[in-house]
Amino acid sequence: MKTKLSFALLFLALMAVLPAQSQRRAKGVVSQAVEKPVVVNNVIFMIGDGMGLAQAHALQLATGEMPAMFKAPVIGLISTDSYTHKITDSGAGGTALATGYKTRNGMIGMGPDSTAVPSLLDIFARDGRRTGVAVTCDVTHATPADFVAKNISRKNEQEIAADFVKSPVDVVIGGGLYNFTRRKDGRNLVSEMKDNGFAFFESLPKSGKGFNKLLVLTDTAHPAPAAKRTNYTLAEATRVAIEALDSRNDKGFFLMVEGSQIDWAGHNNDSTYLINEMIDFDKAVGVAVAFAEKNPGTLVVVTADHETGGLTLIHGQNKRNKGVKFHFSSDDHSGVIVPVYAFGAGASQFSGVYDNTDIFKKILKVAALDPK
Ligand SMILES: [Zn+2]
Repeated sequence: MKTKLSFALLFLALMAVLPAQSQRRAKGVVSQAVEKPVVVNNVIFMIGDGMGLAQAHALQLATGEMPAMFKAPVIGLISTDSYTHKITDSGAGGTALATGYKTRNGMIGMGPDSTAVPSLLDIFARDGRRTGVAVTCDVTHATPADFVAKNISRKNEQEIAADFVKSPVDVVIGGGLYNFTRRKDGRNLVSEMKDNGFAFFESLPKSGKGFNKLLVLTDTAHPAPAAKRTNYTLAEATRVAIEALDSRNDKGFFLMVEGSQIDWAGHNNDSTYLINEMIDFDKAVGVAVAFAEKNPGTLVVVTADHETGGLTLIHGQNKRNKGVKFHFSSDDHSGVIVPVYAFGAGASQFSGVYDNTDIFKKILKVAALDPK
């Protein structure tokens, strides 16, 4: 009798507990799928200066191939207006992406009240992660400057170059040697950076492996457009930068890569120049995404600081562009929202329509870093 009663009680207890348990288990599965903890060690942040949606679509039409950036599993859109202007310049546009602050057109790494603010590069470095920039313009030009320097004006490129000596940046690849060596103040910043442990090259080394600090200034001024550039491609610069940052990696790295001359092609209303710059940039995206596929803690975010040229794709007879004419409506920047393509760890955070300053917040969130 006693045994029978125990069995009956056990049966009732099981009836009461089982549904709750299986419910809990099911709930657990769901929450795991939604809230799977994301560990982002490495961030490769790629900026096509002046690259709107039409520029990316023009690349697809001109090559007849799916651009690497179009294979992104997550796509978003961002507004690009600055603190002072509906239509931003690259100084303020890059500052919004680099620091999360909208600022005055022309400013570099400063809030609108002229206070220097930390960039993603500064914050990653403070956390002990390695950092770098790789571009196809002078490294003191607006976009790379936004990540490395602080200045009231993008025009002060000699002052901006001096900030590279103070910056925690580990890898710098681009042009602009003259701002480092032919200076009004007589300083030789290349010598100073060598004293700080940088290996210096005037041409891109074959591999970045083993370099702790690497400074590559390939040209006295801006590197040539992609079609005429014989010393490096942005894809090679991206690979070398990743090799240098990753080979001494314990906590991770932050790398900013810029396709700098997409913007200049837009200003020139030159569609051939534009396509060649887009090819150069998209191949670099391919290198970054291939790295992310092999290294699970890597996030790749591809976006723009603004659109340039007011490009539209209209009817036209043009052999190269398969019946579509690339029509520029402006020789300046436009205010249209620009695309965001995200790959890898934490990418899901980048869907939707949001502000350019949110990119900074989202990158810090997935990399578990504090902005202050
Ligand atoms: Zn521009």
